[in-house]
Amino acid sequence: MKPKTVGDITIARMVDKESTEHRYQNWFPDVPQEVFDSHRDWMDPYFFDYDAGTIIFSYHGFVLKSERHTVVVDTCIGNDKEREARPLYHLRNDTRYMDELAAAGVHPEEVDYVMCTHLHGDHIGWNTKFENGVWKPTFPNAKYLFSRKEIEYWSSIPEDGNHRQAYRDSVSPIVEAGQSLTVETDHGIDDSLWLEPSEGHTIGHYSVRAKSNDAEAVLCGDVMHHPIQCVMPDLCTVFCMDQEETRKTRKEFFERHADTDVMVFPGHFAAPTAGYVVGHPDGYRWKPDF
Ligand SMILES: [Zn+2]
Repeated sequence: MKPKTVGDITIARMVDKESTEHRYQNWFPDVPQEVFDSHRDWMDPYFFDYDAGTIIFSYHGFVLKSERHTVVVDTCIGNDKEREARPLYHLRNDTRYMDELAAAGVHPEEVDYVMCTHLHGDHIGWNTKFENGVWKPTFPNAKYLFSRKEIEYWSSIPEDGNHRQAYRDSVSPIVEAGQSLTVETDHGIDDSLWLEPSEGHTIGHYSVRAKSNDAEAVLCGDVMHHPIQCVMPDLCTVFCMDQEETRKTRKEFFERHADTDVMVFPGHFAAPTAGYVVGHPDGYRWKPDF
């Protein structure tokens, strides 16, 4: 994705991993391949690998720069995290995320806010880095905004699970360093930047809205995972915690943004990643911004 300009704000993407390894059946078990085949004219080659029969998926975050703020939204999978149960998240040292932050002209010290749309392991990884045997905040001068409901939920699940391991190495060190801000999902920074509740995929999921002059962007995390969900707004992944709530959130999101100039930055759409929701007699469609 080329960096985008929204009014006076620039938004660049940092990729941890772009992957064609995902069998769509593991994400959307009830969708037959014919559905993807019938949308080949716009999905090929960006969102579906028609040779392999797999969805193309991206793990990325964004850095948003305005005159007042430098904000990282979602910190992906990270390096050095022990994730044996999820080989795709066991990236060790092969992630491009920090190099791409540098390519966007941002040093970790300059970041004032880190916003994690939710606390799944693929959205919190680069919160911390492993140094001299301990996990330290990657962004030493930032406040990290965690949704209160997410903190309450993920800190109370059983200690031995995969999610709890992620919480332990990627959220707890931030809290212990005094850099966390536990916030409600409608928390505002100022009149150009605020959070909005978008719950369902997880219990306290939020989106980030940025406005400058008359231009507007929304970074919507896992409100949707793949453009096929624009065609089928009811379609949830097996990883959505509350499917009913996820559907409601997604439908409201589409109704609000369809055929508007609001640029949408989903948490997992493959390059070019940013784009627009457009209305269609049958559901909606995704219009990538090339
Ligand atoms: Zn995710």
